[in-house]
Amino acid sequence: MTAKESLKKKILAGRRISPAEADALFSWDLLELGGAADMRRRLIHPVNTVGFILDRIINFTNVCEAACDFCAFHAGAALKPYELSMPEILSKIEELQALGGTQVMLQGGLHPRHTLATYTGMVREIKKRFPAVCLHSFSPSELAHISAKSAVPLDRVIADLQSAGLDSVPGAADMLVDRIRAKVSRKKIRTDEWVEVMRALHRHGMKSSATMTYGMGETQKERIAHLEVVRRVQDETGIFRAFIPWSFSPKRTKMESMAPATGIDYLKIVAVSRIFLDNIRYIQAGWLTEGLKLAQIALAMGANDMGGVLTEEKVVKATGAGTKAGMAEFIDLIKNAGKIPVLRDSDYKILDRRPGGRLK
Ligand code: SF4
Repeated sequence: MTAKESLKKKILAGRRISPAEADALFSWDLLELGGAADMRRRLIHPVNTVGFILDRIINFTNVCEAACDFCAFHAGAALKPYELSMPEILSKIEELQALGGTQVMLQGGLHPRHTLATYTGMVREIKKRFPAVCLHSFSPSELAHISAKSAVPLDRVIADLQSAGLDSVPGAADMLVDRIRAKVSRKKIRTDEWVEVMRALHRHGMKSSATMTYGMGETQKERIAHLEVVRRVQDETGIFRAFIPWSFSPKRTKMESMAPATGIDYLKIVAVSRIFLDNIRYIQAGWLTEGLKLAQIALAMGANDMGGVLTEEKVVKATGAGTKAGMAEFIDLIKNAGKIPVLRDSDYKILDRRPGGRLK
């Protein structure tokens, strides 16, 4: 048996693969790799459902002292500085709730004047008005920033936000390779600190997601190193509900001269992630950054979730990406991929197996 045949056998038997084996997978023909990833997905999810959630991303400020080279969103890059008022935030959530939405993602920059009191005040007011909405909000960098700005230990930051009403925190991992972080996001937390935030969230019983922004000059081995960090943290904590890879868009950033990652890069990363991250149940197709059509193909190569429908966000939009989608389009797209669309909540519990019937 060749090394490739034995690796294929290992994948189809649902066994864990090594970083060196993940490296080898990138040289496989795309359809062969995608097929193996889909078989692996079937071992975990024998039913062909694809979930999505009704949510809204509210980027409450773009004032940010990190000024990452890869970001087109922060004030000082392409956009003017802004800060949403509390009534503006509440009215956006009211619109979401009127449409049946269940999740809010509050995400801002690392604001030089925002303290723990700013964040707990915002969370408390939202939860007072909308107790049923799930606040899957902020990021490890924001939590570390609040801790430093307020001179309060990270564990207390998390405990205070949790008691104010924060439900879970998105992973926002960028690239977990310090060589890249030192180049493109010098003022943001390093890999070890990101891991420490995850451990702290886990101590408080909170859930998260793991993401990966690739295409910032990292090598293939460094992409695998990122996946290794995620798998190790998941083995230790079980904190990640999903993994979401997306490509970096250089437009309107300080890295504009860089060539964007290709569709083949994306599909291979989705497939390798599905196989390598054997301890994460949901792999999300990133339609917001990759476009609806590529995300639809990813559903045949290991992905089994489409993320949020009512997404209003400004970070990706700042790069000029204009992808938008409504509920009907999502349902058609999933059905056309031969899958069963299901409406889910933030915890990936199914709310509606026939979402097209209830919510048109
Ligand atoms: S990526 Fe986040 S931390 Fe970096 S500049 Fe943009 S808003 Fe600030």
